[in-house]
Amino acid sequence: MKDYDYDLFVIGAGSGGVRAARMAAGFGAKVAVAEDRYMGGTCVNVGCVPKKLYVYAAEFGKAFKDARNFGWGSELPAFNWATLRDNKKTEISRLNAIYDNLLAGVKATVIKGRARIVDAHTVAVGEQCFSAGKILIATGGWPHIPKFPGSDLAISSNEVFDLEQFPKRLVIVGGGYISVEFAGIFNGLGAKVTQLYRGPLFLRGFDSDIREHAAQEIRKSGVDLRFDVNVESIAKGASGLQVSLTDGSTIEVDAVLYATGRKANLDGLGLENVHVKLSDAGNIEVDGNFCTTEPNIFALGDVTGGIELTPVALAEGMAFARRQFGGVESTVDYEFIPTAVFCQPNIGTVGYTEDKARAKFGKLRVFKSAFKPLKHTISGRDERTFMKLIVDRASDRVVGAHMMGPDAGEIMQGIAIAMRAGATKALFDTTIGIHPTAAEEFVTMREVWREDTE
Ligand code: NDP
Repeated sequence: MKDYDYDLFVIGAGSGGVRAARMAAGFGAKVAVAEDRYMGGTCVNVGCVPKKLYVYAAEFGKAFKDARNFGWGSELPAFNWATLRDNKKTEISRLNAIYDNLLAGVKATVIKGRARIVDAHTVAVGEQCFSAGKILIATGGWPHIPKFPGSDLAISSNEVFDLEQFPKRLVIVGGGYISVEFAGIFNGLGAKVTQLYRGPLFLRGFDSDIREHAAQEIRKSGVDLRFDVNVESIAKGASGLQVSLTDGSTIEVDAVLYATGRKANLDGLGLENVHVKLSDAGNIEVDGNFCTTEPNIFALGDVTGGIELTPVALAEGMAFARRQFGGVESTVDYEFIPTAVFCQPNIGTVGYTEDKARAKFGKLRVFKSAFKPLKHTISGRDERTFMKLIVDRASDRVVGAHMMGPDAGEIMQGIAIAMRAGATKALFDTTIGIHPTAAEEFVTMREVWREDTE
């Protein structure tokens, strides 16, 4: 076998790249990781982790008010953006260092700089060239803001965490995960938030009952949520940004956040030097073993345009390393992947939406529970929880579980295990609940809400 500088050269130190590098090194491979921006990638620096910290910050706003009817009679404390932002920065720096240490711990070499593929076995970083038996592209995604008059005045999720000034008035464009989560964050922190979605109902891809419930709860929480409308232009005005909309109206705000999807991060990667095929959407095409159309170049995570979730990239990184360096057949099972949207309250979901379940399994039985959480019977907060189970009528298997309510993300993880194990509705029914919790509703839904009959 030819003598390369490295057995594996990973481009991108995000969730998938670092996990693949660490596992490959653990199997004895000589590994290098190139990163030009920050250790830990999107999730650690401008995604999941800082987002969740900001969600916690946002939830205090309502919690202080909730506390009053429980006997806490204090004044509402003022929110300080700089404190949150700077404490977040400190925590993220700590995590960056942990990522460095994790790689150092397995003797992987970290090379700071933008990597460019020169040929199928060579990667350049700056002036230096490195040869590698295998190259793994794990460069993730990058926010995509469409071009329109004034689009350069919009910011993306890359910038929103570190704004110098707290935006008291904010327009958020989009109807997916990021837009919905940031609408909740800035609304909770006290900003006046307007969220614009171009279609009739946001959160496309989620169960339709959850989408409707989410629209209702998010509106009640104070977000000005508008559908069937888009931005035409943004212009600088004397007292803010003037955002002109397709319905002829104008809104004046301090910032416009675009959360209109992400594209594969491929700029300057040198793909023109090798035979790596891209999909029509501009993502790297891979087979079930993460191999591109260039036999020793691999790709995984968001850059492949699959399911853009950190735990999926981690699973892909592990499967890749096991197979390529551990001599173990390993693939990723993409069925029943649980996911959460950290809006207020959270959305948690696993398995099929009702429409997709009907298309795949045929006749269904559908159960629901909608109620005011116990806490809010006293707090007075006007918020309702919605839960739904979708059951394949023929096999009695639970094939979809959806919830919008406090801690839905936490609750859904355990439900996902049961569903992956093939749990039937009868098994849910014979499981004893934990009282009083919201989660117990998942084992006490007895009345069929909708049933497909012969
Ligand atoms: P999404 O793809 O989820 O949503 C993009 C939204 O922008 C959609 O509502 C889409 O509308 C809309 N849109 C797209 N193009 C335009 C346009 N030109 N004008 C107006 N609206 C437009 O992307 P996000 O950026 O929200 O998030 C990216 C991914 O990151 C997510 O899909 C998710 O996988 C991941 N993520 C996961 C999180 C979690 O696990 N909690 C949190 C944040 C992100 P339409 O529906 O009509 O296409």
